[in-house]
Order: sequence, then structure tokens, then C-alpha cells
Amino acid sequence: MKRRTLLQTSLGIASLWPARHLLADVPSARLADVAAKTLIGTTTSLRGNDLRDLAMSLHGELLLPDEPRYDNARRVWNGMYDKRPAVIARCASVADAMRVVDFARAHQLLTAVRAGGHSVSGKSTCDGGLVIDVSPMQGVRVDPSRRIARVEGGALLQHLDRETSAFGLVTTAGTVSHTGAARSAGGLVALGVASD
Ligand SMILES: Cc1cc2nc3c(=O)[nH]c(=O)nc-3n(C[C@H](O)[C@H](O)[C@H](O)COP(=O)(O)OP(=O)(O)OC[C@H]3O[C@@H](n4cnc5c(N)ncnc54)[C@H](O)[C@@H]3O)c2cc1C
Repeated sequence: MKRRTLLQTSLGIASLWPARHLLADVPSARLADVAAKTLIGTTTSLRGNDLRDLAMSLHGELLLPDEPRYDNARRVWNGMYDKRPAVIARCASVADAMRVVDFARAHQLLTAVRAGGHSVSGKSTCDGGLVIDVSPMQGVRVDPSRRIARVEGGALLQHLDRETSAFGLVTTAGTVSHTGAARSAGGLVALGVASD
């Protein structure tokens, strides 16, 4: 399909690119309205313009169903929870998360927060609501003199171990490297000296 033809339909655009990238390329593009669930179980309509404004305000990206990366982003560790959120906001910073929380509050959306996605009971996803996905936020800062590490919301145990081991420090958080560190270790982690 020729690029010009493709750009004529927002459906075509949405099916090929994540919203933020699409919107950066085509500022006047219109997104279709999206049906979403509220906190009290009713259905609301999210206006395409509001979604577009949110997407434009993020460093991360907003993923809607039918976009190529949506399916991967909606999966959680426990495959029994095969849910389809209306919107997935992949936050790249605290400011992103604050904007998305404001959006969720303004629209009273059913919301789930996702970090490593390991919740055995599937609490980090939802059907028809908004997923605030902090998994792109994987920063770990080690303070070797105080023997503490501060991890961002989406950091995994592998990120924590990688950074602390460089200082010869460790913590007892766990052995499965793809477990979220913020929830299992509490965000602020006390470290001990590693021994052979
Ligand atoms: C295979 C496996 C191995 C495990 N190994 C260990 C281990 O070795 N040590 C250990 O301590 N635990 C372990 N756990 C348990 C694990 O720590 C908890 O399930 C933890 O909640 C997983 O965090 P997550 O970020 O990966 O999961 P998620 O499913 O992303 O999040 C878990 C819960 O926390 C909420 N949440 C996530 N981020 C935020 C946030 N920023 N603000 C508010 N709420 C948030 C989610 O909504 C969800 O309810 C393991 C679990 C599994 C499935």
C-alpha cells in the first residue's frame, strides 16, 4: 500500500505504528474513540483527541488494540490471565506515570499497574481498562557507602543484581531474574557484601 493511501485512514495508521510514533509523524492525525471500562463496571468512550493528547504528552508510548506491540505488552507471567486492556500506557518516567494516573482519574477508568508482570493472581492487567505499565522504568541507583540501592518501578531482579554486583554488593531478593524488583524488594533495597 502506498504511504499516502495508508495515511488516509486512522485505522490503517493505528494498525501499523504505536500511537506516540504515529502522532509524532502526523500531528493532525485523528484517532478513533475507544470504549473502556470504568471503576464501577460501566462503559465509557475515550475520545480519540484525548488519547492523542495523552500520547503526545508521554515520553513512553500509548498502545491501543490492533497495534503490533499491543499483544506482547498485554501478556503477563501467569498465562491464565489472558486479558485485553482498552489502553496500555508504557511509562518511561515518573512524570509519564503521573500524567496517566491523572487521565485514569479524570475518566474514572478501571486501572491496573504493571511492573514485572509476575502477579500470580493476574493483578497487573485488566479487561477493558487502562494498564499503567512501568516496565520501561528500569533504573537502579546504588549508593555503595550506605549499602542501599534505589530501584525504579519497572526494574527486574536482573537489573538490580547487575548494578549491585558491580560494587561487590548483593541482596536476598530472589533467584528468578525476571521478577519485578520494586514489588519483591520494596523499591529501596539494603545490600550486603558479596562473598565467593
Ligand atoms: C516465577 C516467580 C518467581 C518469584 N520469585 C520471587 C522471589 O524470588 N522473591 C520474592 O520476593 N518474590 C518472588 N516472587 C513474587 C513476586 O515478588 C511478586 O509476585 C511481586 O509482586 C512481583 O512483582 P512484579 O513487578 O513482577 O509483578 P506485577 O504483576 O507487575 O505487580 C505485582 C502487583 O504489584 C502491583 N504493582 C506493581 N507495580 C506497582 C506500582 N509501581 N505501584 C503500585 N502497584 C504496583 C501490580 O498491580 C500487582 O498487583 C516470584 C513470583 C513469580 C511468579
